[in-house]
Amino acid sequence: MFNTRVKVAALLATTPDNQEVTVMGWVRSFRNNQFIALNDGSTNNNLQVVAELGAYDEDLLKKITPGASLKVTGRLIASLGKGQAVEVKAATIEILGECNPDTYPLQLKNRPSLEYLREIAHLRFRTNTFGAIFRVRHALAFATHQFFNEKGFLYLHTPIITASDAEGAGEMFRVSTLPFDHTPRKEDGTIDFSEDFFGRASNLTVSGQLEGELGATALSEIYTFGPTFRAENSNTARHLAEFWMIEPEMAFCDLEDNMNLAEAFIRYLIQYVMDHNREDLEFLAQRLAEEEKQRPQAERSELGLIEKLEFVLTNQFQRITYTQAIDILLESPAYKKKKFQYEVKWGIDLQSEHERYLVEKHFKKPVIVTGYPKDIKAFYMRQNDDGKTVAAMDILVPGIGEIVGGSQREERLDRLQARMQEMHIPVEEMWWYLDTRRFGTVPHAGFGLGFERMMLFVTGMTNIRDVIAFPRTPKSAEF
Ligand code: ATP
Ligand code: MN
Repeated sequence: MFNTRVKVAALLATTPDNQEVTVMGWVRSFRNNQFIALNDGSTNNNLQVVAELGAYDEDLLKKITPGASLKVTGRLIASLGKGQAVEVKAATIEILGECNPDTYPLQLKNRPSLEYLREIAHLRFRTNTFGAIFRVRHALAFATHQFFNEKGFLYLHTPIITASDAEGAGEMFRVSTLPFDHTPRKEDGTIDFSEDFFGRASNLTVSGQLEGELGATALSEIYTFGPTFRAENSNTARHLAEFWMIEPEMAFCDLEDNMNLAEAFIRYLIQYVMDHNREDLEFLAQRLAEEEKQRPQAERSELGLIEKLEFVLTNQFQRITYTQAIDILLESPAYKKKKFQYEVKWGIDLQSEHERYLVEKHFKKPVIVTGYPKDIKAFYMRQNDDGKTVAAMDILVPGIGEIVGGSQREERLDRLQARMQEMHIPVEEMWWYLDTRRFGTVPHAGFGLGFERMMLFVTGMTNIRDVIAFPRTPKSAEF
């Protein structure tokens, strides 16, 4: 029977009364042949198990090494030592699984680097850093569902395999059962996808938005929360080939409502982890502070992790138009001193360096940029009356850049069709999408929040590979 065990987090919060308890976990350290630090992933705080000197034979004691798994029964007592309120005075110790210290790749004594831990990602859950990260990740996922549920949104499962490309651009992973060596060809030499599994070319989804719009234009308010896939070959610290995205879509909603929802959602997530994961956040804050000490003064952030999160809770995001953003950049000392690598002029897609200048140097807070040039945005965004811009909004945050991309959608059939033609989107193939505009069209809007980008923001981690359990990036899909 395993379910009589009590988790470490619960034991640490229990008043000791010499009661008998059963606890299981992995050894973090073993001191003086007497003090075992036991961890089961429920908290970063270890439980001290005391093995009375002389009560256990040498053979057993030798097997209590870091990484070994134990079952301990004993009495919960007030701790005599410093650093913990309670400890377990062991009556029986059973080794569930031994762990050879000579071959165990995780030696916690000399703090392993994040780079090394990526190479042993199957074991990194056992470190304090990743314990904290994955508890926070769970909390953010849970809070996401709670937020939308409280607001009456329906959780819609949009497909993972799709035959449409929401952005009208490449970067997709093909899904196919055609043989690689004898691919069926049409007369003109191109691949004959009519022989493929779905009878047409299909891909892993890059976004659930288009299908989300179908749901929203009947159910009013939906959200998706699922994996998305992009075969972009950008090996950055902010891009994954497989990442999770949350995409709400709302009927009877304009750009301003959309921004308000996104802002409220981000605050809700932060408030939730501040309330439920305080210990883990404090651990991560400490970790970040130590990491920052290694950096030159000028590159250090002014606020610690907790202060940064508190700041976001209490301050409105700055809202500016794209045109204002360009003007700010052109006026900036960074631009005048030619510090930007990429060109700045009206019409460019803001590069990460520009986004970060705006949020980190200029406004020092999250910024929502609206009204982007239509030529750098997707076909479905609502066209503004100026003929040049669309009702898009991106949310940029310090340390990361873009965390949310969204827009009010073009609900006018004629405008939408014209734009699709201009952008060479196959209008006939998208008949089902256009039907929402043919039959009872409504103003509607939505956005996509990159879950791992949000994780970066909340945990203070700097590489996106460290906030997802099994990162998929170019040339890397181990584990
Ligand atoms: P970026 O310019 O950073 O590549 P994008 O404009 O391609 O982002 P969208 O298509 O608007 O992003 O996607 C919505 C959100 O999904 C982004 O705001 C971001 O948070 C997240 N996101 C986009 N691409 C990735 C990726 N490759 N890995 C992780 N998150 C991503
Ligand atoms: Mn991108």
